[in-house]
Amino acid sequence: TFGQFGDEVGLNVYVVGGFVRDLLMDNPSFDIDLVVERDGLKFAEHAAEKLKATLVKHDKFLTASLFFNGRRVDVATARIEYYEAPTELPQVEISTIRKDLYRRDFTINAMAIKLNHKDFGLLLDFFGGQEDIQNKKIRCLHTLSFIEDPTRILRAVRFEVRFDFTIEEETERLMREAIHQGYLEKVSGQRIRQEFEKIVQEIKAVKAIKRLAEFDAIKRTFPGTFYTATMEEKLRALFDFLPWAEKHFGQVDRFYSVMFVLLEYHNEQLLNEIKERYGLSLKFLQQLKLLKKMIIPLSQMIKLRMNFSDIYKVTHDISPEGFCYIASYLEPDDQEYLKQFLERVSTVKLTISGKDLIDKFGLKPSKKLGEILESIYCAKLDGLIDDSNELEYVKSL
Ligand code: ATP
Repeated sequence: TFGQFGDEVGLNVYVVGGFVRDLLMDNPSFDIDLVVERDGLKFAEHAAEKLKATLVKHDKFLTASLFFNGRRVDVATARIEYYEAPTELPQVEISTIRKDLYRRDFTINAMAIKLNHKDFGLLLDFFGGQEDIQNKKIRCLHTLSFIEDPTRILRAVRFEVRFDFTIEEETERLMREAIHQGYLEKVSGQRIRQEFEKIVQEIKAVKAIKRLAEFDAIKRTFPGTFYTATMEEKLRALFDFLPWAEKHFGQVDRFYSVMFVLLEYHNEQLLNEIKERYGLSLKFLQQLKLLKKMIIPLSQMIKLRMNFSDIYKVTHDISPEGFCYIASYLEPDDQEYLKQFLERVSTVKLTISGKDLIDKFGLKPSKKLGEILESIYCAKLDGLIDDSNELEYVKSL
């Protein structure tokens, strides 16, 4: 249909990048990236109308995004440079899409498929992407690739680990050179963070972080972080816990939970530099401070299977990401106990209220009321009482 929309407005349309790669690898892919020659915005407006899609345009970049049926389609413009081949139109067309593809990161991501009726399904593979898929190689397109855009260092590792590919030899050499020449430090923190956020969403995130560390890219990205076997164990434990935590809490910010592990030994000054560079939240820094103090005693309390109420009393202010960090210190059995605790905390509710204490027991509104309620709650957490005997328990206090 996108090809047809292109025909209707007289523009050439290609699907490019990850979608083509995933198609050739037989992986399902949800995001579609389109490149339209000359005027992506005109195409996007037309397609949005036809599909009744929501259209978000970025006029400055000549790009647009379409949202419909829970899907997202990004449209970019490839501008024709007429001076190159003034007369021969097919030649211009080829050079235009070729240029667009040449700006991309790796050969496997630099292929396009034409969607217009004429030439529908034609695969454009100028740089050997198909062959590299076959040989399981991540290969950059030119020697300045990582210097032009050092975030590609993170991307190379992400794709290598995700697909079980190998970074091709010369590409690896160029990567190492760019890293050692300090190019990771020259990119904006925001762009690095964006790519790092994608890494922590990968199924094999720990393997990817380990691989980045092998490239020295972790300590370059987070000064003061030294990847060790212990850190790796913590990351593994963390990622074992995350799926459960995400279900339990509804949502967990994986990036921040990993930051706790990577930044736990940093001093104030380094921490502030990293905070500024990556725009880390103040709340994160406060949590980290709190967790640093708590982590050893708290993980001991869990290992010793102390009462839920005792754990509850010291974990009031811990965020979901903070609990995931605590889990990074725990073996599987101890993680199970932490899960039971969190499960209990989220299901136990008081049936009695402060108002009941005033009405039924003639107590005066005071701080004491809160304390009584908390002690009832704690007794419930520990299974000493349930809904039926809350009142009796109050009497006994
Ligand atoms: P994923 O499956 O993770 O979404 P993707 O290949 O679609 O992988 P995106 O980050 O969405 O990854 O990028 C889409 C396409 O844009 C890539 O396939 C690549 O062609 C191009 N691209 C993205 N980032 C860069 C970059 N830093 N340098 C060059 N090309 C890039």
